[in-house]
Amino acid sequence: MATKRDYYEVLGVSKTATVEEIKKAYRMMAIKFHPDKNPNDPTAEEKFKEAAEAYEVLSNTEKRQRYDQFGHRGMNGGGFGAGGNMSMEDIFSQFGDIFGQGSPFESFFGGAGGQGRRPVRKGSNLRIKLKLNLEEIANGADKKIKVKRYVACQTCSGNGSKNGTALSNCTRCNGSGQERRVVNTMLGQMVSTSTCSTCNGEGKIVTDRCETCHGEGRVTEEEVIPVKIPAGVGEGMQLSMSGKGNVPQRGGMPGDLLIVIEEEPDEVLKRDGNNVVYDLHINFADAALGTNVEVPTIEGKVKIKIDPGTQSGKILRLKGKGIKDINGYNRGDQLVHINIWTPKNLTREETTLLERLRDSPNFAPKPGKDEKGFFEKMKEFFQ
Ligand SMILES: [Zn+2]
Ligand SMILES: [Zn+2]
Repeated sequence: MATKRDYYEVLGVSKTATVEEIKKAYRMMAIKFHPDKNPNDPTAEEKFKEAAEAYEVLSNTEKRQRYDQFGHRGMNGGGFGAGGNMSMEDIFSQFGDIFGQGSPFESFFGGAGGQGRRPVRKGSNLRIKLKLNLEEIANGADKKIKVKRYVACQTCSGNGSKNGTALSNCTRCNGSGQERRVVNTMLGQMVSTSTCSTCNGEGKIVTDRCETCHGEGRVTEEEVIPVKIPAGVGEGMQLSMSGKGNVPQRGGMPGDLLIVIEEEPDEVLKRDGNNVVYDLHINFADAALGTNVEVPTIEGKVKIKIDPGTQSGKILRLKGKGIKDINGYNRGDQLVHINIWTPKNLTREETTLLERLRDSPNFAPKPGKDEKGFFEKMKEFFQ
């Protein structure tokens, strides 16, 4: 797999660049590497696409945050194409943002060249919450998500007309979907094109509506979509599946399906970053004499040894029993926090026994050189 260049490097901006700076940098790149301007340079298209992808991510606050935090892996971990593999159509539909609808730049790229590229309309995104338990988060999971989304109407093939054929050319734009205007700019006269207001850029008018979709060109459908959730995701993280959102009215590109992760808290094991924390309670005889106990982990029960003379508050580390890192191959640990349980409601016999032990010299607390205090322990685990 080819390694991707850093998005900031691609656009030649700093990590702290503002949205305006990013936009400006991309605009320059898009003009420089536009394939129509570089017909004999095969690398231009690659660079053009690379810049578009970088812009796609860095211009979106959420995607940029995820990229800053997780790098490229955060963008397409587990097969989610959040930024990658943009088609030329995706890229041109992005131009509305950076050059402005109907701007001289748009006509420079779209209309004036004569190819008559019609802006591709994109449907809305679907956002869905997905609850995951700790085990699914730790190991990743294959889930099936049921979504209700707009898909193209089969009867009319998505154009909204009866039998798909009851269409006529728009008379305002003569079927081009665009209105042309000559505008005076500082650089002289330029032809500006804008979307036709009669047909909304479709170039065609429906004369007789499709009965299935009432002319919308789309119908709602329930679909079960399999998704692969990468290990190590966290609360609020958003994964996007491109093309699994809604299809727009009367044809166009479907939007994306955005999956927002919700962590279902585990009653026994608590998550702390990639570590898992477990509170173990043992009685004070076991702490004094030592014992073996079973503790739950993400992968089932594990036997651990409690040394004789174990103090309350001790933390044992079970290496590699935590959560897999979303960015790499490392796994967190499980920390077992030992709590000594003090008995309550003693019987007469127990009371007598303990009273006999109370004044034994070994029962007098002797904290000091061997025992680490709370702050030392904190430092040790959170350095
Ligand atoms: Zn239809
Ligand atoms: Zn029109």
